[in-house]
Amino acid sequence: MFIGHYGPAVWDTQRGHGKPIVKLWEAFLAVQAMDIVCGFLVMFGIEGMVLNADGKPIFDINWSHSLVTSIVIALIAGGIFKALRPQSGMRGFWVIAMLAFSHWLLDLIVHRPDLPLYPGGDLLLGFALWDLPWIAFALEAGLLFLAFAWWQKLTIAKNKKYDYGLWALYLFMVLVHFAAIVHQGIQVKNGTFDMAAQPPSSAAGISMLVMFVLFTFIISRIERGRPSKFQTA
Ligand SMILES: [Zn+2]
Repeated sequence: MFIGHYGPAVWDTQRGHGKPIVKLWEAFLAVQAMDIVCGFLVMFGIEGMVLNADGKPIFDINWSHSLVTSIVIALIAGGIFKALRPQSGMRGFWVIAMLAFSHWLLDLIVHRPDLPLYPGGDLLLGFALWDLPWIAFALEAGLLFLAFAWWQKLTIAKNKKYDYGLWALYLFMVLVHFAAIVHQGIQVKNGTFDMAAQPPSSAAGISMLVMFVLFTFIISRIERGRPSKFQTA
């Protein structure tokens, strides 16, 4: 999953009570913590795309995407957040840890079986919704849409720019998602996927990381202009 991961990012137990524990841009990093680790490993050629026995592309993501690693990454992400934002307390720790862990559960729905239980484990999990590229696209774009619509309701734009900005970001993310994920899913379905035509792993890893930073930067700018509706001060 790619943009669908940002769906849970708007979940925050304190939203609606004035002061959110976790800023949306921080949640944007948390939900992609596993893929940020993955991006670095792909960049250095440690992880990357491979073909499975059916000739379909899967990911060799033994280290970043095992169930065990996902729990470790979630706890580390929560720990980093708690260290940087001590006033958020254990609730902040758990919000970030659960957001980070949500990544594995959502990946489980769409990935072709490539998610191991532990690094090097033989059992590979994934319900392969990406084999139905348009349905998977609707799910991911829909999750992000619901998240943005909900967040728009819980915040007030200081001016119109912060409404347009939010939906321009939505459109941008959907387009990037289409180019990165859906396009490939359609090729796989039509049997025209060509492994040799894929970008080298260094480029793939860097573009993953660039997109995560870019989405996070843009939402942080939008967030400045959208304070919580329930803010008292
Ligand atoms: Zn992932």
